[in-house]
Amino acid sequence: MKRPGKIFIVAGPSGAGKSTVLSRLFAGRDDLFYSVSATTREPRPGDVDGVDYHFVTADHFRAMMRQDAFLECAEYVGNFYGTPRAPVEEAIASGKDAILEIEVQGANQVYAKRPDAIRIFIIPPSWEELEHRLRSRGTDTPEKIEKRLMRAHVELDAAKSYDYIVLNDTVDSAVEQLRAIMQAEHCRPADRIALFTEV
Ligand code: ADP
Ligand code: 5GP
Repeated sequence: MKRPGKIFIVAGPSGAGKSTVLSRLFAGRDDLFYSVSATTREPRPGDVDGVDYHFVTADHFRAMMRQDAFLECAEYVGNFYGTPRAPVEEAIASGKDAILEIEVQGANQVYAKRPDAIRIFIIPPSWEELEHRLRSRGTDTPEKIEKRLMRAHVELDAAKSYDYIVLNDTVDSAVEQLRAIMQAEHCRPADRIALFTEV
């Protein structure tokens, strides 16, 4: 019998490098599923609808909420973000690991429903570097950057309760840490022993 995949939550302050590290992790991996979130925020240059996000109106987002279409959803710096439930459930049922790149409120909601989800927090090497990455990304107004940095203080406080913290110093090293964590999670006795006890 095919064993279901696991849910990995990847959180961390805006600008820590989550998207960069995950896109590297996903290269050439068809055993992983990237959960494409719905959001009401405007696409950034380079954002592709249906790949980076499903860009939706506030009305559409609210309709999805009414239909209970989200595994979790949250407001972040003036916009709504949510994880469509069905694709995640289908992916893990098919044996793929699902990666949810979401902020901390949404991570709490997923963890409340799925305490077996593994929570990984990505941090930058320093505050200065976080600010530098946010500014050099060049996608947000100075005002939005300030809001994201303020939010980062609250988010970093949440990191203490996570299962793992990945330090994104270089992208290569962060990807290596993520791979190691995912591999270790698949070596837990509950999974391994089940291989020998299932008939
Ligand atoms: P997030 O998804 O966490 O908001 P991004 O992946 O968009 O962050 O990264 C923010 C900025 O930092 C981008 O310009 C990205 O190219 C850069 N970046 C990401 N990781 C690193 C790294 N290890 N070293 C230097 N710059 C990085
Ligand atoms: P950005 O606007 O920079 O793409 O994302 C802002 C924040 O929203 C990031 O911390 C990102 O991880 C988070 N985010 C993206 N998708 C979701 C989602 O579906 N749910 C929640 N709760 N947060 C999300």
